[in-house]
Amino acid sequence: MNLFDVYPLFDIEIAKGQGCKTYDSQDVEYLDMYGGHAVISIGHSHPYYVQKMTHQLESLVFYSNSVQNKLQVELAEKLGKASGYEDYDLFLVSSGAEANENALKLASFHNGRKKVISFNKSFHGRTSAAVKVTDNPSIVAPINDGFDVDFIALNDIDAVRKSLKNNDVCAVIIEGIQGVGGIRVPDVEFLKMVRVECTARGTILILDEVQSGYGRSGKFFAHQHAGIRPDLITVAKGMGNGFPIGGVLISPVFKASHGLLGTTFGGSHLACTAAIAVLDIIKEEHLMENAECIGKYLIDELKKIPQIKEVRGMGLMIGIEFDQPSKEIRNRLLFDKKIFTGASGTNIVRLLPPLCLTKSDANLFLDSFKSVLESVLAI
Ligand code: PLP
Repeated sequence: MNLFDVYPLFDIEIAKGQGCKTYDSQDVEYLDMYGGHAVISIGHSHPYYVQKMTHQLESLVFYSNSVQNKLQVELAEKLGKASGYEDYDLFLVSSGAEANENALKLASFHNGRKKVISFNKSFHGRTSAAVKVTDNPSIVAPINDGFDVDFIALNDIDAVRKSLKNNDVCAVIIEGIQGVGGIRVPDVEFLKMVRVECTARGTILILDEVQSGYGRSGKFFAHQHAGIRPDLITVAKGMGNGFPIGGVLISPVFKASHGLLGTTFGGSHLACTAAIAVLDIIKEEHLMENAECIGKYLIDELKKIPQIKEVRGMGLMIGIEFDQPSKEIRNRLLFDKKIFTGASGTNIVRLLPPLCLTKSDANLFLDSFKSVLESVLAI
């Protein structure tokens, strides 16, 4: 059987990883500036994470969602503390799309409405019930059948007000920082106004922190830079450092009842073990502070490079936009300098490195990047 060929893949076989470095089968070292789409939060093969996961595997309890799983309770407590949302409830799932799907369901059960507002260039997942919207033509967008979705320009508060004015919108769903759409940060004032408008109109505000959450922006959630509190927050990616897990943080306004939501794999013992280890390490190693500090350094230095059109982002979620396609830049970084990066559309290089990135890793990237730009783009 062949693999269904829907991703372009580099012909490199990664055999092991440690911290921000990965190694191929010939033991060639690569600097990981992408972390598998923001999935690697605490670094590759962290010894504490490996030890906790190994121990859990050895205990032979991998899965059961019909009996009490104390790891879920421990995870909820630690996530509440780490994020500042101790009064919210947690519903555990296995991916970002599943988290958004459940958030939309909750919103719709709550106010009985079906209309959803989302933003141009946003991305919320690939299932048919989760909204997934993009104007990036390289991505097919299966808009869900259950909801009626309106797309609005990011930061256009007048358009939001206009859409909400009939009191018939179920939810506004917005990324803390747009990831797939090119690392676009919503304005602080815009987010504050959206919060006010949603409250006034009985509309649920869903913050999709699947890519921007878990300390990546320098705060636990990117929306916390605006000081707002959404009704629902969705998480995944960095939550398990590669082990599939996602969740919905649910404000006390929502009341749980048996049968309201369901999941097969959500909150398994192994998934919870991974997520607890991630939170322990983020706290112990001050990775949020590191993301803020090294991220600021990278952004400041990148802004000095003349060949770049624009640098956007916060913490270790950075988009570098060029006037021309960035494919050759990324290829040269990978094949000549042994550095992995990501892309958003054709002209944007996307950086989502592990949160343990050091200053010397950042300098290695900056030096390599400048040298590649000099060879690929004549000033
Ligand atoms: N939401 C955002 C902001 C994302 O970036 C993604 C994936 O890239 C998703 C949701 C979907 O997550 P998953 O691929 O885990 O379903």
